[in-house]
Amino acid sequence: KEKKKLGLTTQVFIGLFAGLILGIFLCYVVPDSHIKTDIIVEGILYVIGQGFIRLMKMLVVPLVFCSIVCGSMSIGDTKKLGAVGVRTLIFYLTTTALAVTVALSVGNLLNPGIGLDMSKIKTSADAVETMESTSLISTILNIIPDNPINSLASGNMLQIIVFALIVGLILAKIGDRAETVANFISQFNDIMMEMTMMVMAIAPVGVFCLVARTFANIGFSALVPLAKYMIAVLLALALQCLGVYQILLKIFTGLNPIRFLKKFFPVMAFAFSTATSNATIPLSIDTLDKKVGVSKKISSFTIPLGATINMDGTSIMQGVAVVFAAQAFGIHLDMMDYITVIGTATLASIGTAGVPSVGLVTLTMVFNSVGLPVEAIGLIMGIDRILDMVRTAVNITGDAVCTTIVAKQNNALDLEVFNKD
Ligand code: ASP
Repeated sequence: KEKKKLGLTTQVFIGLFAGLILGIFLCYVVPDSHIKTDIIVEGILYVIGQGFIRLMKMLVVPLVFCSIVCGSMSIGDTKKLGAVGVRTLIFYLTTTALAVTVALSVGNLLNPGIGLDMSKIKTSADAVETMESTSLISTILNIIPDNPINSLASGNMLQIIVFALIVGLILAKIGDRAETVANFISQFNDIMMEMTMMVMAIAPVGVFCLVARTFANIGFSALVPLAKYMIAVLLALALQCLGVYQILLKIFTGLNPIRFLKKFFPVMAFAFSTATSNATIPLSIDTLDKKVGVSKKISSFTIPLGATINMDGTSIMQGVAVVFAAQAFGIHLDMMDYITVIGTATLASIGTAGVPSVGLVTLTMVFNSVGLPVEAIGLIMGIDRILDMVRTAVNITGDAVCTTIVAKQNNALDLEVFNKD
């Protein structure tokens, strides 16, 4: 199965490079004509590329709704675990919010989207709709859905998330009484995951068309910004992993952070090669138990929860992508927009399942929340797999760091094991 996934990665890379070559060829070699512009670039490439984006958007509402209900059902379980659950939750949410902040800062420092003028590119009508600017009070009030069905139908993400969180918590609370609904939603979640994989299977073609059209329209000017975007994401991931986590470990546990990283490195390598937090759960619990000294009593609960709701690396990619897209489309984001991004990316991290590429799907929800066109996702998708690998390693490191801190605070950390070899 893994072979097939790696096959897809290679295909996406091939799609990217082939699209790049075709785009450059169309831009610089083929003379302007009706066939080039109307039939190839704005015809075939546009239709297939847009079709692919529409498919991605089709996934968002049901996927986010189901996976947040499922995620918050597991948050509901935290009540049983009392203080451990609440503490874990606080650490998970805080580290994610910190991660987005790091990403937005790095993004604004490196300005990856400047020099890339995507505003020339025609976007699908519904993609450019921007949120009308509203006052702080109505923004806050707007989080509460006055009609959840309407929120689902119009794709109002924040409202969907709030409703999904409440449904999930209630399902956890009433347990058996709503078993059918809980099963229904988690099975529907499985359907959406499967659908995501199907859409991802045609990603190579989608990426090919999107990239070819972009480069046909704007030529080489897209290369440098994309490289800068990658560097910005990697830099922010490094800052989170080697800076934020290390400082948190030192402050809250007094443990040697380098030693922690060394011991945890094989798990990171595994997450890197599979780009799947979920698949890393068993190895992570085992390593934390045998090498770091975290009791399984804690980790068997916090690690699966983290793999479901705590995606610091993913939210870093989303933060940088927001800056990238805003600059590329010449859209100004103010302080309120940035705060919205920190909020939605933190919530998107709850809604992102621990399997490859889902971070890109939930990115549409972050874009929507501040009125950015989702077209930019087509461009960054081509280079996303490599970033997916790195951010997954950061995702699971975040879970492990929070778990170790919570274990230390609950006297469930065996220092002898940690200090051994
Ligand atoms: N691949 C990531 C994970 O499994 C999720 C994502 O960002 O797409 O943690």
